[in-house]
Amino acid sequence: MQTPTRSHYAAEALTLTAGTPVRLLGWVAVKHQVGGLLFLRIRDGSGYIQVSGRKGTIPQEAWEAAKDASIESAVYAEGIVKDDPRAPSGKELVLSNFQVISPAELWPLRKSLLKSRTALYDLRHLALRGPRTSAIIKIRSKLMESVFDYFFSRGYVYIQSPILVKAAVEGGATLFPVKYFDDVVYLSQSAQLYEEAAICALDKVFIVQPAFRAERSKTSRHLTEFWMIEAELAFTGFEDLMKIEEELVFNISSSIANDCKEELSRVGKKVVAPEPPFPRITYDEALDIATKSGISISWGDDLGTEAERIVSLNFDKPVFVTKYPVNARSFYHMSPPDNPKVTLSADLLAPEGYGEIATGGQRIHNYNVLLDKVRQQGLDPRTMKWYLDLRRYGMPPHSGFGLGVERTLRWLLGLRHIRASTLFPRTPNRVYP
Ligand code: ATP
Ligand code: MG
Repeated sequence: MQTPTRSHYAAEALTLTAGTPVRLLGWVAVKHQVGGLLFLRIRDGSGYIQVSGRKGTIPQEAWEAAKDASIESAVYAEGIVKDDPRAPSGKELVLSNFQVISPAELWPLRKSLLKSRTALYDLRHLALRGPRTSAIIKIRSKLMESVFDYFFSRGYVYIQSPILVKAAVEGGATLFPVKYFDDVVYLSQSAQLYEEAAICALDKVFIVQPAFRAERSKTSRHLTEFWMIEAELAFTGFEDLMKIEEELVFNISSSIANDCKEELSRVGKKVVAPEPPFPRITYDEALDIATKSGISISWGDDLGTEAERIVSLNFDKPVFVTKYPVNARSFYHMSPPDNPKVTLSADLLAPEGYGEIATGGQRIHNYNVLLDKVRQQGLDPRTMKWYLDLRRYGMPPHSGFGLGVERTLRWLLGLRHIRASTLFPRTPNRVYP
């Protein structure tokens, strides 16, 4: 049997005037029969439309097919647009023909069958058809689009860097080893070091790609595979970098707020884009806020989830926490000339307790200073040779940042757990489906 052709998607059909003929291809989301009257909700990639059919007004074969169509069957529905104040969108399709293109077995995603959230993620390949999950993924797509728009419209070059690498960027403990013939390599934790090489050819670059971290901590904000938006700029200091970060976050949020209204209503979240400038506090000030709330952190330690939550609750916009201590940072962070104990770096904390969504800072561009740091942190200068080499051949002052895609979405959409922000999440206990 030949697949019939569609004339419109569901969302388009809802904008047509009454009387317009429409041919849809989609899936049965809801079905309801009252005697000789049938109500269907048909879903396609664009959204949902209500379809009604009356026995005797459509061919018998089509009536039988519609009446017996199981939930999530792929179907063809043909009809006429009709105004109907009772329909959720004010319009419905009055059925004139119907065909099942590919039937579905008994749909397993029913409350009675789902014992836990884990079960829902075991069936993620099916669950993603739901209105909320599909809306989140569409919003994620808009986020990516706005990131590319932002960087391309400002003259950045989009580069790609290797996923198989020899050295750690963010500490050896979270590396995933991969057997590489007779050797061992690792999955990339960040593209930053490669971006630093690229800026000497291209000035300002960005990357959007996955990063891998073997973090066993089962938190609601860590995945083992996540996507990072990274940018690196030559001849750029730390203050200018923060302006770029806040502008990017504003652009992402306003694109989503403006272009994803329908999806946001399905998620049940209102997004208000935070206008730059974002507040800036120092690490010391953040420590004070945390201490006053009863969290004790020794100077020099990373803030940690709870302190970040407390600090970010004090602001209604994302807040930069600047000047992290050297000990709390990777080896490549530069210190200001007047204080070798801190770094020219900042974490961007999302408000409402969501915590860190980005880290950025100025990198060391002096060869000897970097070599000392590599040694101090117990890293092997030989595996770092190419990275150190950059400092021997005209490396200018430069800065960059990494913004997590899933963390940003989690905050903007108010998601309880980060895994909801990605189609097929990867966590310490989950690599299926
Ligand atoms: P954290 O301290 O929260 O574990 P980090 O400081 O180790 O994060 P960075 O190295 O600064 O992370 O990475 C840059 C950004 O990438 C982070 O600000 C965050 O948005 C995102 N990110 C880092 N690790 C993860 C992870 N395991 N899962 C999801 N996103 C992450
Ligand atoms: Mg960080």
